[in-house]
Amino acid sequence: VEEIGTPERSIVTTCAYCGVGCSFEAQMRGDTLVRMVPWKGGEANRGHSCVKGRFAWGYATHQDRILNPMIRDSIDQPWREVGWQEALDFASGRLKGIQAKHGKDSVGVITSSRCTNEETYLVQKLARAVFGTNNTDTCARVCHSPTGYGLKQTFGTSAGTQNFDSVEQTDLALVIGANPTDGHPVFASRLRKRLRAGAKLIVVDPRRIDLLETPHMGDSWHLPLRPGTNVAVLTAMAHVIVTEGLTDDTFIAERCDLDEWADYAEFVRSPDYAPEAVEALTGVPAATIREAARAYAAAPNAAIYYGLGVTEHSQGSTTVIAIANLAMMTGNIGREGVGVNPLRGQNNVQGSCDMGSFPHELPGYRHVSDDTARAIFEKAWGVTLDPEPGLRIPNMLDAAVSGAFKGIYIQGEDILQSDPDTRHVSAGLAAMDCVIVHDLFLNETANYAHVFLPGSTFLEKDGTFTNAERRINMVRRVMAPKNGYADWEVTQMLANAMGAGWAYTHPREVMAEIAATTPGFANVTYEMLDARGSVQWPCNDDAPDGSPIMHIDGFVRGKGRFIRTAYVPTDERTGPRFPLLLTTGRILSQYNVGAQTRRTANSVWHEEDRLEIHPHDAEVRGIKDDDWVRLASRAGETTLRATITDRVSPGVVYTTFHHPNTQANVVTTDNSDWATNCPEYKVTAVQVGLSNGP
Ligand code: SF4
Repeated sequence: VEEIGTPERSIVTTCAYCGVGCSFEAQMRGDTLVRMVPWKGGEANRGHSCVKGRFAWGYATHQDRILNPMIRDSIDQPWREVGWQEALDFASGRLKGIQAKHGKDSVGVITSSRCTNEETYLVQKLARAVFGTNNTDTCARVCHSPTGYGLKQTFGTSAGTQNFDSVEQTDLALVIGANPTDGHPVFASRLRKRLRAGAKLIVVDPRRIDLLETPHMGDSWHLPLRPGTNVAVLTAMAHVIVTEGLTDDTFIAERCDLDEWADYAEFVRSPDYAPEAVEALTGVPAATIREAARAYAAAPNAAIYYGLGVTEHSQGSTTVIAIANLAMMTGNIGREGVGVNPLRGQNNVQGSCDMGSFPHELPGYRHVSDDTARAIFEKAWGVTLDPEPGLRIPNMLDAAVSGAFKGIYIQGEDILQSDPDTRHVSAGLAAMDCVIVHDLFLNETANYAHVFLPGSTFLEKDGTFTNAERRINMVRRVMAPKNGYADWEVTQMLANAMGAGWAYTHPREVMAEIAATTPGFANVTYEMLDARGSVQWPCNDDAPDGSPIMHIDGFVRGKGRFIRTAYVPTDERTGPRFPLLLTTGRILSQYNVGAQTRRTANSVWHEEDRLEIHPHDAEVRGIKDDDWVRLASRAGETTLRATITDRVSPGVVYTTFHHPNTQANVVTTDNSDWATNCPEYKVTAVQVGLSNGP
C-alpha cells in the first residue's frame, strides 16, 4: 500500500473464486486496485475472507493476459494478432460456413461458471436464438449437474435449500464428499464455530479432512468409505433409520408422496442394505454407519453439506437423491438449521445453471419441450426455438470425433485441462473447423483454437454472481477492461456478426430480460440489489424479499419424492495392474486448474500437485516422502511427488488438479454419471511406482 499509495475510494464487489460468494471492497487509487478488503456488509461473509479472495486478484494485471484478438487458419499455424472486427468476421464466417454445410446443430457453445449471470444468459441465448441450436452446455456439467438432476427430481428445483446463516442453528452437520476448509474456507469457519459450540459432525469421505480436527468439538464420526460407494453408505444409513423406526412420520405424511414413500421404504428395508451387509464393500464398519444414522435422525436440526465427492461419480445423481431421501425421511427440510446444501465449487455455478446453460433447459430450469416456457422466450427473442434437447459437452466431443460437430464457442473454460480423458478432449477439439476460445490467458484448450477472443476479469465488468445459497450478489466494474470489452459485450458482438441485432448497452438490461422471462427472478433489479446488497431467489411477488430458506410449507414440486437408490458398482475396478483407487480434491491457496491463482503471489505456497499415499502402500512400493512417483491408469499416466500420510486409507491415493504440468485428468477415465454425464473424477483405478521424475 505504501508503494502504490493510500486508497481514494472503494467499490463493493464479489469474489470471483468459490461458491461462498464473499463481498469485498475493492479499494482504488485512480485506476489502480490497491487492495481487496472483505466487506462487513456482505451477507455471505460478514467481513471475513480467505487467502484467495483477499490476495489472489493479481492475475487481472498479469503479463500473461492476452489483450488483442488473434486468429489462424489452422492450429499448426502461428497466431496472427488482428483487430476485433476482423476476428469477429473470421469467427462468424467460419461458423456460418459450417452451418451452411453441416446444419445448424453442427456448432455449439460452452458457458462458464466463472462469468456473470448476464454473460451466461447471453451465451445460451447466442446458441438458441442466433445459432438456432440447443447445443449449449456449462462447465457445471463436470461438477454439479447431478445436483441439478437429483434435487429437481426429489424437491422440484435445483438449488441448495438454506442460507449460510442456517448453520448457526444446526445441531448436527453431515459433510459428505466435501472439504470445506480448503474448498469453501469462509463457510468452513462458520461451521467450525458451530462445531465448537457443540454441534455434532459426521464426515463421509475417503480422506480424513481437517474439519475432523476442529478443537473442542463435540461428538464426531468419520466414515472413510471406499471411493465409489457413497450410495451404499447413504442407503445403509436410511436402512437403519427406517428399520429402527427413527423416521419423522408426520413430515412424511404431510409433505411427501406416500405411494413413493411406501415403495422406497420397502426397498430400503432390504437386508442387502443393512450396514453389516455393506461393510465389506464400503470399508466402513457397520457399527459406525449405525451410530451415524442414529445421530443424524436424533438431532433436532440436522443439515447436510456436500461437494464434488458426491456428484463426480457414475452414481452422482443417485447419491444426490439418497441425500434428499435422508433429509425428507427425518423431516430435516424447510426450517433453520437443516436442509440439503450443495457447496458449489465455482463462484457462479448456481447462476450458470439458473441461466439456462444446459442443453435441455431454458433459464429457470424449464425443459425445452415445455411449450409454454418456449413461447415466453420465442416472444422475447423473436425466434422459433427447437423443442429437442441439444448436446452435452461429452456428446459434442463425440460428435466432433465422428465428424458431425464442427464449431464451438467456449467462454471462460479450459476444457482440455478440466474435463476428463484428456486424449478424447484433444481429439474432439482437433477435429473441429472452428474453435473459438474466449478467455484471459492462452490456456491449454487454446492450443486447438482458430480464434482467440480476449476475456475480461470480474474487476472489469458489471453484473451478478449467484452463490451456493442462491444469493444474487452484485459484481461491479472497478477498472476499465484491459482488452477493451467486457465479456458480455464480446458475446453481443459475435451475435451481431452472425446477423443478430442485439443492442444491450448495460448488463442491467440483460437482467431486466432475465426477470421478465424467468419467474424466480421476476422482482430482481440492479436498483434493488444496490439498495439491499443482495437477494436470494426466488424473488418475485410471492417472495418480494427473496427466499433464504426453501420448501418451508411445501416442496417446489408439491409433494417430495422418495426415489429408490439401488447401489450399482462403478465400472472402474481395481485389479492386479491397477490395485489402488485415486480420488481428487483441492488445496486452499489454489483454485481449479490454477489459471488465475498460479498467476498471483499465492503460487509460492503450493507449487505442485502431490500424491498422498498411505504409509503401508508406500512402503510396499519402496516410496519415501518427496519421491517422484509415476501415477498410471488405463487412460494415461503422469508424474508427481509423493506425500506419505495416513489421512488416506490403505488402497486409496489422492491428488489435486491445479497444475497443468501434472494434468491429473490424464489419468481419469471417461466413466460418467448415468443421468447427467458428469465425469467420474473421484474413482480411478491406478498403479503407483517410483519414478525418476518428469
Ligand atoms: Fe470467499 Fe470463496 Fe472468495 Fe475465499 S474464495 S474469499 S471463501 S468467495
